[in-house]
Amino acid sequence: MSEENKKQLEIPFYTEEVENVLKKVETSTEGLSTSEVNQRLESYGYNQLNEGKKKSWLSKFADQFKDFMIIVLIAAALVSFMMGDKVEAIMIIVVVMIMAVFGVIQEAKAEEAIEALKDMSTPNANVRRDGTTKVIKSNELVPGDIVLLEAGDVIPADMRLIEAASLKIEEAALTGESVPVEKNITVLDKVDIGIGDRLNMGYMNSNVTYGRGVGVIVGTGMNTEVGKIANMLAQADETNTPLKENLNKLGKTLSIVILGICVIMFGIGMWRGGHTWIEMLLTSVSLAVAAIPEGLPAIVTIILALGTQKMAKRNALVRKLPAVETLGSTDIICSDKTGTLTLNQMTVEEVFSNNETIEVDQELPLDNQTLKIMTYCNDTKISDDQTLIGDPTETALVKFGMKRGFKVAEALAKEPRVAEIPFDSDRKLMTTVHKLENGKFLIAVKGAPDELLKRCSFFDVNGDIKPMNKEQQELILSNNTNMAKQALRVLAMAYQISETIPESLESDAVERELIFSGLIGMIDPERKEAAEAVKVAKEAGIRPVMITGDHRDTAEAIAVRLGIISVGQHEAVITGGELNEMSDEELASSIEQYSVYARVSPEHKVRIVKAWQKDGKVVAMTGDGVNDAPALKTADIGIGMGITGTEVSKGASDMVLADDNFSTIIIAVEEGRKVFSNIQKTVQYLLAANLGEVLTLFIATMIGWDTLLPVHLLWINVVTDTFPAIALGLEPVEAGIMKLKPRGRNSDLFSGGVLPSIIYQGILEAGITLGVYLLAISYPVHTGYEAIHADALTMSYATLGLIQLFHAFNVKSVHESIFKVGLFKNKTFNYAILLSFTLLAVTIVIPGFNDIFKVAHLDLHQWAVVFGASIAIIPIVEIVKIFQRKAINK
Ligand code: ATP
Repeated sequence: MSEENKKQLEIPFYTEEVENVLKKVETSTEGLSTSEVNQRLESYGYNQLNEGKKKSWLSKFADQFKDFMIIVLIAAALVSFMMGDKVEAIMIIVVVMIMAVFGVIQEAKAEEAIEALKDMSTPNANVRRDGTTKVIKSNELVPGDIVLLEAGDVIPADMRLIEAASLKIEEAALTGESVPVEKNITVLDKVDIGIGDRLNMGYMNSNVTYGRGVGVIVGTGMNTEVGKIANMLAQADETNTPLKENLNKLGKTLSIVILGICVIMFGIGMWRGGHTWIEMLLTSVSLAVAAIPEGLPAIVTIILALGTQKMAKRNALVRKLPAVETLGSTDIICSDKTGTLTLNQMTVEEVFSNNETIEVDQELPLDNQTLKIMTYCNDTKISDDQTLIGDPTETALVKFGMKRGFKVAEALAKEPRVAEIPFDSDRKLMTTVHKLENGKFLIAVKGAPDELLKRCSFFDVNGDIKPMNKEQQELILSNNTNMAKQALRVLAMAYQISETIPESLESDAVERELIFSGLIGMIDPERKEAAEAVKVAKEAGIRPVMITGDHRDTAEAIAVRLGIISVGQHEAVITGGELNEMSDEELASSIEQYSVYARVSPEHKVRIVKAWQKDGKVVAMTGDGVNDAPALKTADIGIGMGITGTEVSKGASDMVLADDNFSTIIIAVEEGRKVFSNIQKTVQYLLAANLGEVLTLFIATMIGWDTLLPVHLLWINVVTDTFPAIALGLEPVEAGIMKLKPRGRNSDLFSGGVLPSIIYQGILEAGITLGVYLLAISYPVHTGYEAIHADALTMSYATLGLIQLFHAFNVKSVHESIFKVGLFKNKTFNYAILLSFTLLAVTIVIPGFNDIFKVAHLDLHQWAVVFGASIAIIPIVEIVKIFQRKAINK
């Protein structure tokens, strides 16, 4: 950190007047100019926390030799070198080096993918630069930038607040206090106070939970309070997915078993005689090195990461790697309605004002009070070219007013907003206070009719204000129901006139004894792909559940249109009010009944997720608001909204939809299922191969056969464990994958028939290899012990290598015929097999190499036997698959 930067952090900006702060960081409320920003970027650097030092290639390479078995192998090779067999010893070392290089490349690829994932999730910030407001990546912020804050934003850097309107910030990350703090811009007089008490400051990584504000950046990157403690914070290791942990565990168990086998094999070999101890040691250790699937976790990371790249192309941005595997097992998708299942393109269709229903094409007088409230109590910004910026629910109202000739901007200039209580999804209300020309104040309230009606004591018909009565209430409610049943989102408008500006801006004090003015109903069409996606989800055994803040009837009408529930299935709909009456246990026991949740608040979402999880289900949940963060975190898959989502909600998500579209979730689930099944294929392939190797060598040693030399084992390991294994991870999606039921919370890599397949296929690989050896010594082509055994050794080496390459085709599907799956669809796989085949073949057919690898030159007959025997694994496995399919369909 430069001296200048250090000094910056040390200034207690909270004790300074706003003007002084602006002066000290050399900026103004209009923001910095682009050229100034560029200069500052150069001197302060990007607004990001330093990550730990990256490992050099050399140290990554050195890490490959930390494995105990590799050390033993190298030591044994060195001893062997000194004792005489120089060529083999050198070859072993060379192969180990090649393995290490591959290991480094694999890990680097995996790391690269994780980095790309991080880049994708850099949050945005709203900043004022060159006099206009822009959205930029928050890592491009510099000291002096003016940042606009609203509920749901993550504070992007340390800032001194210069405006605060009901601004509340939750600073748990820094102070441990999870209750949001109400902020202001008052200068503090004490320097020596804790972060939690610095009420005019906003600190990086804390969350804006309510209200609005503006701040000037005073510290970025490592110069922030978070930066100060960044080194102490244990960085969450996002690369460790449950799957990888399982694999690590599996790797450990396998290591122990394989080491045990190797020790026994060494003992038997020594007891039988015929080999020196160093030969036996080399063989045993090579087997251990070849058979322990040490590269599997890196391969899995690569496959998962490739999956995320595919998903990103289709608008599903995965933020946390484990999400890919969890997505594939999703049982329940809880989705918000507005914007995800629908377009969030609102258009006013109907107005109920002065006790009359007015259709869109009918006239509405400009002095209509409902019209005034809907445009006043509204955060829509009208730009100079008359475009409307804001929440679609609100812009629809302004658009409606403007279309009818109501001059919204002019009216608001005369009767400006002087106070407000912002909208929130819990209250489902919003209030603004306007100073009228006669000096009085208009309290304009809009919100969910059922909520607002509770707070209305009067009603207004053409200026005639009467106390609210039952009859009027029923009239309002029946109009509300009528609109809602046509799938319209209904908002109610009410007001009050006050002599003074309300002292306290608490909901209970202001939003009471209101005068009801009218209702408006607006349509939000369903996304056209949504109904199809719901259908696909249902076929895949996934239950789509709709969650909405809207009215029960609106929710039900839309759910029917989307196919989430059928006509008249009222019992599948439940409201937030009804949920409040239920205990968690009651909800958990009846959760299967409900597919539509209406009038819910964000906290209900957590209960819904937990209830489904209690039922053993894997739950995905969408969310966009700041209050959705807990539900997004609780869900197995939290899904954020790329367009409308707040930064806080995106930060809490495992995946973000770039297009906010429900159907993208289904695409991601399909991709998740595919990735998981491809990882299963890789595991099946590698473990069957390793079992084949262990069994071949173990049985051969017991009998006293020399089927494979240590270097053969190691080479087969290099050739087959890398390219085909990764290429299997790129297999295209198997047809019908979305017709299967979700695999269930407790399934693992070995479920769905994978384990028995590994076992019998490993035995098969060993059986065929040993069979070829037996054939070679029983019907020799050459004469003489040496020649016969050299032939047999070469043939068993070639067979074990080839059989694994042919078997790679088999594992393209656990149960399906590979001729149905498509033999050559996956081009990378084809190239991988070709490359592996070449690498294997050169060691046998190229004269120089076959000396080093100590293999004999095979004649055509012998090659025919090797090929015939290896390729036989395809028809044999095909036949077993027929029986397996029959057993499954029974
Ligand atoms: P969904 O939950 O389907 O995504 P939503 O997130 O838009 O819908 P909320 O924003 O929580 O739901 O809205 C809930 C209810 O609050 C709406 O049905 C409406 O009656 C009311 N409402 C929505 N937006 C506003 C607003 N800007 N001002 C006042 N009331 C609103």
